[in-house]
Amino acid sequence: MQNAKGKSRKQYNRKTKQQSIFPKTSGLNRLPYLCRMLIKSAKYIISSPDFEKCPAPDKKEYAFIGRSNVGKSSLINMITNYDKLAKTSGQPGKTQMINHFEIVSASAINQSKEAQNARWYLVDLPGYGFAKVSIRSRRRWEQMIEGYLRKRPNLEMVFVLIDARHTPQKLDLDFLNQLDKWEIPFAMIFTKADKETQTVVAKNVRLFLDRLRKTWQFLPQHFVSSATKKLGRDKILTLIDEKNEAPKGE
Ligand code: GDP
Repeated sequence: MQNAKGKSRKQYNRKTKQQSIFPKTSGLNRLPYLCRMLIKSAKYIISSPDFEKCPAPDKKEYAFIGRSNVGKSSLINMITNYDKLAKTSGQPGKTQMINHFEIVSASAINQSKEAQNARWYLVDLPGYGFAKVSIRSRRRWEQMIEGYLRKRPNLEMVFVLIDARHTPQKLDLDFLNQLDKWEIPFAMIFTKADKETQTVVAKNVRLFLDRLRKTWQFLPQHFVSSATKKLGRDKILTLIDEKNEAPKGE
């Protein structure tokens, strides 16, 4: 295991290399980029106040988190193709629970019965950085998130959402450094890409990665998304599909 600073967690080693999305033997790797995963259904299961009350950890789990208003609900709705799965609200910081959704998906390249009915959890975590919450509720958020991230045994990956319109923000960098310290696998999603020109988005992403490079040897994987343009969906789902098929933790 090699983390971003080269100390542990082997997954970061792979991230710097260009990854093929298809196995070499499939022949499909000569085709242009395709989505490997079809979402068959998505349903809300439960909202839990802490990791101990979460559903039994019997499926692989992928959590989404970011600053309040970063576009997390819109992204979850976009990737699952369900308009109202996660609430898109105008009141950031209101939903302070760990929200579980059960997804059933089918793989486009693996025809086995299990891969055609893969069940996994998508978790919507409450956002950070909302200015108007009290110190007490911020502390509660920290405890809940730390407990969940460090103790949830089936957590495969955390997707950290970052607003693509902004230059690197301390709050996001601090959160990523914390994840690295705890050795939690994560990828970054730069959201709302349609709201800026491609040049501005590319510049902000580059600035962000440059900041990480200052202290990290290996960079985590990143995606650029737009909920309105459905950008990034295929790549995010492909990564989840690959992880669903891989042995746990790889
Ligand atoms: P959350 O608080 O992180 O769950 O953010 P929401 O999904 O509720 O989004 C916050 C606001 O940004 C809403 O007004 C959304 O309509 C808008 N929004 C979210 N994602 C996008 C996007 O990709 N493009 C555009 N143009 N607006 C977005």
